[in-house]
Amino acid sequence: MKFTLLHTDKDTAARAGELATAHGIVRTPVFMPVATRAAIRALTFRDIEEIGFDIILSNTYHLYIRPGVENMEKAGGLHRFMNYHGPVLTDSGGFQVFSLSDLCRIHDNGVEFKSHLDGSRHFFTPERVVDIQKVIGSDIMMVLDQCTDYPATEKHVAAAVERTVAWAEISREYWARTVDPDAQALFAIVQGGVYPKLRKSCVERLVELDYPGYAIGGLSVGEPKELYREITEYIVPYLPPDKPRYMMGVGSPLEILFAISRGVDMFDCVMPTRIARNGTLYTSTGRVNIKAAQYENDYSPLDEQCGCYVCRNYSKAYLRHLFRVGEIASLIYNTYHNLFFMKTFMDDIRASILEDRFSEAEKKWRYVYGSDN
Ligand SMILES: [Zn+2]
Repeated sequence: MKFTLLHTDKDTAARAGELATAHGIVRTPVFMPVATRAAIRALTFRDIEEIGFDIILSNTYHLYIRPGVENMEKAGGLHRFMNYHGPVLTDSGGFQVFSLSDLCRIHDNGVEFKSHLDGSRHFFTPERVVDIQKVIGSDIMMVLDQCTDYPATEKHVAAAVERTVAWAEISREYWARTVDPDAQALFAIVQGGVYPKLRKSCVERLVELDYPGYAIGGLSVGEPKELYREITEYIVPYLPPDKPRYMMGVGSPLEILFAISRGVDMFDCVMPTRIARNGTLYTSTGRVNIKAAQYENDYSPLDEQCGCYVCRNYSKAYLRHLFRVGEIASLIYNTYHNLFFMKTFMDDIRASILEDRFSEAEKKWRYVYGSDN
């Protein structure tokens, strides 16, 4: 993997770059749609290719549980299994182990957990998580880290940071020894909750390990958005400018904009697809609640500015009807449109950075999504 920084905006820290992976080029800043269990919910990969995403995200924990590592190996890796040949980033599964599993016991050498599915016991070590992602064939792997909730005491978060750094040391060494670094990159994850001192200690020690890329984890876990912004603003300047920076799990247009303005390059979030399934749609003029009675006889497109398949073919009245009667097509069309919106939104932002007018674009989107919290 090779990251090339193409341009930094003249007024802000917003940057545009290119990430060359084994399965293709990723133009940054980038939004990665989430294919947790080897599928984007309600869409096909034909749709994803049509929309034009450069990279998608999948999840180590879920793939490990089902179909399992052995089956993944027999399938020849994830790309072959799901017949998608673009770049794939996999989350390490750390977050899911801590948030999904019934039992989760942390040991110094890893984390013991019960499957959320059948209660069977498993153990993830930093090395094991690299091994699993090697089998998956991830273009970008993530390290095993210890996430903390919000709120969490400083003492608890400090212990999580210590473990995260210790595991990052093991992972870095193991990855360098067992994985082809050009084919599969490994990113470290900065933890530290909402405590600047802990964030600083974590990021400084991780940067010393010289990872190919860095992620900011443990944000957007329920903290007030002021804290999210404060921590983002604080942490990014500590990250090396020549490495890609990934903000995990953040996906509302406003919070993405904020992080981009501070120099973050990569994003993923289930929010655009989740809210789509609930009938909330992003448009060039703000959020639309397609369930609303006002659209009963509104035969205009959902978004006049949107060039997507849905907006070119169907009216708000029709989309509202599909939602109300519970047709599967409602999930498909709504998801398709919201992901198309996210792609267009990121393209717009990226073009504005390359042309030194990010502030202008930021102002425009802030105006449209000003009440989007
Ligand atoms: Zn559309």
